[in-house]
Amino acid sequence: MTEHTRWGAIDQYIDQLFHGADPVLDEALQAAAEAGLPKINVTAVQGNLLQILALSIGARRILEIGTLGGYSTIWLARALPEDGHLLSLEYEPRHAAVARSNLERAGLAGRVEVRVGRGLDLLPQLAESEPFDLVFIDADKPSYPGYLDWAVRLTHRGSLIVADNTLQDGAVTDASSTDATVVAIQRFNAAIAADRRLSATLLPMTRGRGLDGMTLAVVR
Ligand code: SAH
Ligand code: MG
Repeated sequence: MTEHTRWGAIDQYIDQLFHGADPVLDEALQAAAEAGLPKINVTAVQGNLLQILALSIGARRILEIGTLGGYSTIWLARALPEDGHLLSLEYEPRHAAVARSNLERAGLAGRVEVRVGRGLDLLPQLAESEPFDLVFIDADKPSYPGYLDWAVRLTHRGSLIVADNTLQDGAVTDASSTDATVVAIQRFNAAIAADRRLSATLLPMTRGRGLDGMTLAVVR
């Protein structure tokens, strides 16, 4: 068995054990595929982890950076109470449109706003808003260090900051990498690890047949 086959089998094992049939999530992925969106959404295993994290802190206000077709958005928004709110930032209007229709079908439109624009342009507009309980960073990788600064600014003690794709199939272990994405993620991981306002770790996770990770931090 190659490593990738093993990870695929492990991912499938967890998926089958913990996730029952979910037509809403299946339809969301199908609609995204039909609209030609890239298949770079989190896996079900990762979506479930996001939901468990949100539930565990009783999150009422969630900020997501990088909506795509709203797949991770649905997992997170389902953790919200009736009067909770999720704001998701997305650069591509086409992605936002697919996400809005998926959220509508999921019965979550009342709790979720998808706002179109560049993350780093939209985040300053939130400086005066009520702090968020959970921030999920999953947009363009070069902006991750900037997103981290904003995430810390827009949260409160006890909030969670979660970032996707922070292992890059292990490429982050190459200290001499010149790949822009890898270098940005390395800077992000180093910054979040060194930040005295946070307690953080990096969780290696299967991602289908590959290996990726999520960096998790709690605001002290
Ligand atoms: N969270 C989603 C996947 C997001 S993929 C899920 O797991 O289901 C990353 C998304 O970030 C893409 O839709 C891309 O269009 C968007 N994006 C890219 N650059 C961005 C930017 N500067 N600001 C906001 N979103 C951006
Ligand atoms: Mg991702």
